Amino acid sequence: MEAHLTHVYNQIIARNPGEAEFHQAVREVFDTLGPVIDRNPQYTEAAVLERICEPERQIIFRVPWVDDAGRVQINRGFRVEFNSALGPYKGGLRFHPSVYLGIIKFLGFEQIFKNSLTGLPIGGGKGGADFDPHGRSDGEIMRFCQSFMTELANHIGPQTDVPAGDIGVGGREIGYMFGQYRRITNRYDAGVLTGKGLTWGGSLVRTEATGYGLVMFTNRMLGTRGLSFDGKTVSISGSGNVAIYATAKAQELGAQVITCSDSSGYVIDEAGIDLELLREVKEVERGRVSDYAIRRGSAATFVPGGSVWDVPVDVALPCATQNELDGDAAAALLSNGLVAVAEGANMPCTPQAILAFQKAGVLYAPGKASNAGGVATSGLEMQQNASRDSWSFDYTENKLAEIMANIHDTCAQTAEEYGHAGDYVMGANITGFIKVADAVIAQGL
Ligand code: GLU
Repeated sequence: MEAHLTHVYNQIIARNPGEAEFHQAVREVFDTLGPVIDRNPQYTEAAVLERICEPERQIIFRVPWVDDAGRVQINRGFRVEFNSALGPYKGGLRFHPSVYLGIIKFLGFEQIFKNSLTGLPIGGGKGGADFDPHGRSDGEIMRFCQSFMTELANHIGPQTDVPAGDIGVGGREIGYMFGQYRRITNRYDAGVLTGKGLTWGGSLVRTEATGYGLVMFTNRMLGTRGLSFDGKTVSISGSGNVAIYATAKAQELGAQVITCSDSSGYVIDEAGIDLELLREVKEVERGRVSDYAIRRGSAATFVPGGSVWDVPVDVALPCATQNELDGDAAAALLSNGLVAVAEGANMPCTPQAILAFQKAGVLYAPGKASNAGGVATSGLEMQQNASRDSWSFDYTENKLAEIMANIHDTCAQTAEEYGHAGDYVMGANITGFIKVADAVIAQGL
């Protein structure tokens, strides 16, 4: 890391102790900004790095709710409004027991650059709670979402901060939260949340967008080497919304997707994932991938506790969670002939894994570029809400495809301009950063 960046980085570490994931996300960006800081002394003079790394506002709140046994439960809620230079804060809500401030800050920090890359007028933010939705009844989920929104409603709005889903927050949760926002405020502010149902302000393609966008980006990246998804074997981790629609799009492009996973292990299905069955198990029954393997019969094997990255494939798409693919996993993938990896989750590859991919010369796409399709389509949902319009599936999907192509090409072009052709990490970080940095300076202190 360049000297000035190291100095600022050390200050940030000291100022935000114990937030390992946030430190990791900042480091990944700083590692690539050296040439930008050299060429643009105004960024140092205006303390832009320090300003971008300090959230504009951080809200931490109590979320009390009553479980089915009549007991009072207390969780901790968060909303980090990180940067609004480009537009209202925008980013998802994560409900998962691992959530604490360091996770929300890493996600919010990533979101600033990701949202900048989409080319849409959205700032960066993120929120969530350390609530574990696993095994909770529908009534418990509703009461939790209502209590969470009772506080959050004080801080959000279509022109202020627009949350959406992330891990543990899908259409059902957005519905319960939107209803509570409407009751509290007596306003039908459709644009206050994205990921809504189609009859009450939602956008077609939003559900599919992160997974679809990931595959669109990856296919274009493969294209730079004269390759495509057609005929490739693909491993996908996770079995949530991103994994399911990445599988769908990759299959549509002729790939053989042979895995899915959850926290209990992974499934290998050499004949190709049966998407209808996976959707039934995950989206309707809210079951586990082991249930998928049982229902699929002899075609699939469930491997409890194993690493999905041991499976030999051409393309790996980590779509589960942060730091799920480490140096050992990268080595296993590389020894099995991997040609490309693209992140569907946020920061799923550890720094060691990224280094291994880059050293080996395989194509590697960081999540802030390759998974930006979700938030981009949220931006399209906001556009539809603002004009009280709803667009067709094809029109919206074409817009998404255009945005992903543009993100890919801009990142590739920036990397080349800075003398690192093919380095999408550098391309994404520099492109995303410059736009935000210039807006921060233009708008003064
Ligand atoms: N949680 C998603 C992400 O990581 C989407 C956020 C949004 O749509 O606002 O980008």
